[in-house]
Amino acid sequence: MKSKKKAVILFSGGLDSTTVLYYALSKGYQCICLMFDYSQKHNKELLSAVKIAKSVKAAYSIIKISLPWSNDALTGKNKDIPIHKRLTKTVPATYVPGRNTIFLSYALSYAQSVSAQTIFTGVNSLDFSNYPDCTPKFIEEYNNVLKALKTKITVQTPILKLNKAQIIKLGIKLNVPYKDTWTCYNGYKKPCMECDSCKLRAKGFKELKMNDPAIQ
Ligand SMILES: [Zn+2]
Repeated sequence: MKSKKKAVILFSGGLDSTTVLYYALSKGYQCICLMFDYSQKHNKELLSAVKIAKSVKAAYSIIKISLPWSNDALTGKNKDIPIHKRLTKTVPATYVPGRNTIFLSYALSYAQSVSAQTIFTGVNSLDFSNYPDCTPKFIEEYNNVLKALKTKITVQTPILKLNKAQIIKLGIKLNVPYKDTWTCYNGYKKPCMECDSCKLRAKGFKELKMNDPAIQ
């Protein structure tokens, strides 16, 4: 029997990466979820990620990364998550320097070790927070890095050019359990609805005239 094609999924348990996990599963990949504990302010997204990975019987690894120099709003000890009236056109305070680059490097190492052909990531470039390592150009260049390493592994970004409503629409078709996903930068009992991440998610559901099943 031909073995299944394998993929490493950069997985946070949020709306975007969960949609991408379900997309990869729908394309017949055996999925391995790669999650990161990088001293973010809370572990709610990791708990969501583990729950979802288990529910689809995907293998997963949680990597603990230390960024002792961190000074950003997601991992800095004395920083609050900023509240913007509208999304900034510049790189926001929640940008963890090099975070996605670090994640992709781990994914490459993992993919080579387990002979996976593909790395999936949920980066998207329309309703996003202006992180410089989540852009189409960055992903294109990262794929060139993989070529230079003489691997056949590619990074695939199925939701790169979709807006939030389109991502949710795709996820609903794929039966993504959005009620189990955690998107908020804060780790309160319920999503704060004020951070950029909550606002983008709410915008998507609003455009679809739907209630977010994670908000009760
Ligand atoms: Zn929030």
